[in-house]
Amino acid sequence: MIVGVLGSLLAVVVIAISLVTLLASRDAAVDHAHETSRNVTAVLVSNIARTIETSDNSLRALVALLNKPAIQTIDPGLRHELLFDRTAAEYVTGMGITDDRGRLIDGCCSSSHTWDFSDRDYFIAHRQSANVGLYVSSVYRARSRPDAQSIAMTRRMNRPDGSFGGVAIVAIDVEYFKQLLAKLDVGPNGVTAIVRTDGTLVARNPPFSHARPVNLDKSLTFPRMVNHDSGFYAAPSISDGVVRLYTFQRVPGTPLIAVIAPAESDVLASWKRLSWIVGISASSVSLAFCTVVWLLAFALRDHAKAQVLLKELTQTDPLTGLKNRRALDHALENEWGRLQRGNGSLSLLFVDADSFKQYNDEHGHAQGDIALKRLAECINRHVRRPGDLAARYGGEEFVVVLPNTEKTGAVQIAEAIRQEVERGRLTVPSEAIPHFTVSIGCATGRHSRPSSLDQLINSADLALYEAKRSGRNAVVAADDIVAPAPPRS
Ligand code: GH3
Ligand code: MG
Ligand code: MG
Repeated sequence: MIVGVLGSLLAVVVIAISLVTLLASRDAAVDHAHETSRNVTAVLVSNIARTIETSDNSLRALVALLNKPAIQTIDPGLRHELLFDRTAAEYVTGMGITDDRGRLIDGCCSSSHTWDFSDRDYFIAHRQSANVGLYVSSVYRARSRPDAQSIAMTRRMNRPDGSFGGVAIVAIDVEYFKQLLAKLDVGPNGVTAIVRTDGTLVARNPPFSHARPVNLDKSLTFPRMVNHDSGFYAAPSISDGVVRLYTFQRVPGTPLIAVIAPAESDVLASWKRLSWIVGISASSVSLAFCTVVWLLAFALRDHAKAQVLLKELTQTDPLTGLKNRRALDHALENEWGRLQRGNGSLSLLFVDADSFKQYNDEHGHAQGDIALKRLAECINRHVRRPGDLAARYGGEEFVVVLPNTEKTGAVQIAEAIRQEVERGRLTVPSEAIPHFTVSIGCATGRHSRPSSLDQLINSADLALYEAKRSGRNAVVAADDIVAPAPPRS
């Protein structure tokens, strides 16, 4: 059984190692996704930063030109050409300047109309403070192109006395950001986005199916993005509940945050396949291993049991179930050796059924067998102490080995056996068998007497002979024999 338990433990260890390895490879897959997302985010941020820098350079040039006194005095047509008639970047949908009340004074792309931008967040911000610097607006619907959305890069213009003189604007089509995001592959369920620190969405890929404005500041994880320049976390999306691995990075000097968020299920798809394969393989191998080990363990147990049974059989007399001659010889050798090492005593009883040849003749051999079985049971009942042994010596003769038993005790037991046989108490009355008797010879050895086991056996045999000679149905102890008796025929 220990083999089975050890085998099962080994199988559990194999499964545990597989589990730990799989968990480590899951972490590695998430780390790898993070690394990739970080690189992609860095490229995205650098693209947006370059676009913003280019726009800001245009703004600065515009403001610097407007501050030159000569520009104020030249012909408005010439001034418009000087300020705005230059090849603007593809994504720039408009450039312009407003006066201090937000009315568009001049600009490209929509100069024919006097638009009022006093309600725009950038105008309010610049009017309120002279230190805003570059302002990146939230997304708005362009007045010149009502079906398009833009964000504005703006700078404040000051009058010579430092008071608010208006705003210089470069408008960028939101479509530009959408195209930037569309070029990035973040898996079938991934999301890329550019959000403002106020939670408004600049662009998202894939775009939301609904048109209503989305504000992410309701999300529990959004403050994390706002409070750190960059970071990584996993969270369920507030829009569709899909768990995504968010990597974000702030576009330096702006309120824009670039977000790359592949879905956890996409990132772990191949890991999950591997887990199934490893899990099923490890479980199958462990199960097969356990089965083989347990079968082996059961086979070993059965073999051990068979060995014990076989040993038992080789030591047992088939008719009576007592120990046989071989076991008796072995036990006698052991007890004799123990006697030589200590100060105890060892008694032997030789029990022989009287006139048993005649018994067989009168009642049949089968009845004789039954009588011998009953006699064996009777002897066994009187051999009670651990270490005592009853054995069939051969034929109708039995031997009882009584370690640490003096002559008196041995004679008592012998007498008890003899009387029980004599009184016919071998069975219950309903199964009574024809009457017979036994003669018993006793011999007791001590440390130095007699000098050998054979002599002790011989003494018991002589005592038995004496019992027979005295008329049978008797118990005789070797010590009580007065004259040496002639050997039995
Ligand atoms: P004594 O009183 O002197 O011992 O006389 P006895 O007839 O018992 O002695 P003897 O040695 O002449 O005969 C032994 C008899 O025991 C002969 C044999 O048939 C019988 N016997 C021996 N083994 C068995 C056995 O296994 N079954 C049966 N039924 N009888 C057996
Ligand atoms: Mg006999
Ligand atoms: Mg005999």
